[in-house]
Amino acid sequence: MYDPQPTASHYVNGAYLEDTSGTPIPVIYPATGEVIATVYAATPAVIDAALAAAEAAQKLWAKVSPRERGRVLTRAAQIMRERNHDLSVLETRDTGKPLQETLVADATSGADALEYFGGIAAGLTGEHIPLGEDWVYTIREALGVCVGIGAWNYPTQIACWKGAPALACGNAMVFKPSETTPLCALKIAEILTEAGAPAGLFNVVQGMGEVGSALVTDPRVAKVSLTGSVPTGRKVYAAAAEQMKHVTMELGGKSPLVIFDDADLDNAVSGAINGNFYSSGQVCSNGTRVFVQKGIKEAFLARLAERLKNAVIGDPLDEATSFGPMVSERQMQIVQGYINKGRAEGARLISGGGRVERDGFFLEPTVFADVTDDMTIAREEIFGPVMAVLDFDTEAEAIARANATEFGLSAGVFTRDLSRAHRVIGQLRAGSCFINSYNDAPVEAPFGGVKASGVGRENSKAALDHWSQLKSVYVRMGDVEAAF
Ligand code: NAD
Repeated sequence: MYDPQPTASHYVNGAYLEDTSGTPIPVIYPATGEVIATVYAATPAVIDAALAAAEAAQKLWAKVSPRERGRVLTRAAQIMRERNHDLSVLETRDTGKPLQETLVADATSGADALEYFGGIAAGLTGEHIPLGEDWVYTIREALGVCVGIGAWNYPTQIACWKGAPALACGNAMVFKPSETTPLCALKIAEILTEAGAPAGLFNVVQGMGEVGSALVTDPRVAKVSLTGSVPTGRKVYAAAAEQMKHVTMELGGKSPLVIFDDADLDNAVSGAINGNFYSSGQVCSNGTRVFVQKGIKEAFLARLAERLKNAVIGDPLDEATSFGPMVSERQMQIVQGYINKGRAEGARLISGGGRVERDGFFLEPTVFADVTDDMTIAREEIFGPVMAVLDFDTEAEAIARANATEFGLSAGVFTRDLSRAHRVIGQLRAGSCFINSYNDAPVEAPFGGVKASGVGRENSKAALDHWSQLKSVYVRMGDVEAAF
């Protein structure tokens, strides 16, 4: 019978696998602090079994016609949509994000990725390059066994954003979810098996950084795709470089959202709310440095404070709730530390700033105004519900200050002046940009960062280049000339 909960820690070679000799990892429901499950970190034997299964499955899968590969992914997408409610409840229990969000943003976006790459699989071809009589043809080949390593904020989506294009291109995957949210990826593995993926094609192993590191350094692995923080990205990128592996790095950000005087006020406030408080602010692409032109500043802050009163903070499993807890006690404490720094460094607290009186790891949506570029809350990624509002006078000044960061994941601009919108976006150094919107991430569009925010792109046709490689074959039609 179908069980909405995963039934063991790992998923290896087409089945759940338990090995309680690994370090226990409690899974804590962030809304109450209760332990809802325990998984065990993968032992070397589990890691080896997963990689061996992936290696064997990949050899078979590479020979499956791309159309059939696509069909498996599309079937998996359909199953995910049918089970959206159960998968969303699991996502909410794993992360604490409100069901109101998870019902529309997690299994659904995972299914979008499976559907998109399932549809595109049969269209993956090489090309013919004429050279007069001779010619070259190219073959788009799989990389082999790929490793996916996830962050904790979007466990279902991250597993699918990595798994779907990897499998469409003929690779196999060993996926390690974040130790903070280990449950959801297991269901993706189970669904892929049900959809017809061969045993071993998509495996899930649990663990902390050491398990990730063991996967990254294993010589059987051809590529590593990490979603995580910049410090982890540096370590994983360096370890992958030792063996010249392919990498995709989806890392952190401190993205600017620039609001000009002529912006539609309510739309700009909505953009700032979406870009700071969705998923309680635990979104990598958030526009956490909100630059507001001086003429609109007080009106913006007043409207924002008013709109924040409408946040429904509470039980994430109640569909009326629109703002949930932080993922963990540790993350809550990190964010509280930043709020204290904001106060100590002289930013003006407009709303929030404290814990919510209830069990679990709830913090209020928090807004600071009069933030200056040198303050800690304007420089470091907080990864929580803390918006920093900074003032500016001129377009050139806003662009220079927006770019003055090591990060470059996203950027947004709100203005009614079309030429200015494109001119400003053209100068902002970021991978995913928005005009009069914020944080949309359709699978059809490339997603990824510049500078310290990452390397490579997920989603869209662009992702295919990061999960496959081209072999070129020179074909000589005549005799071979040689010097002697
Ligand atoms: P993290 O860097 O602490 O961990 C990410 C993953 O890497 C976890 O699975 C962790 O176990 C693993 N890991 C840690 N050390 C490792 C090592 N040495 N070798 C291999 N794996 C290792 O990040 P987090 O706290 O889980 O997530 C929050 C961060 O992720 C934020 O910085 C956020 O911006 C970023 N993020 C980025 C994106 C994106 O697409 N750009 C999306 C979501 C989150």
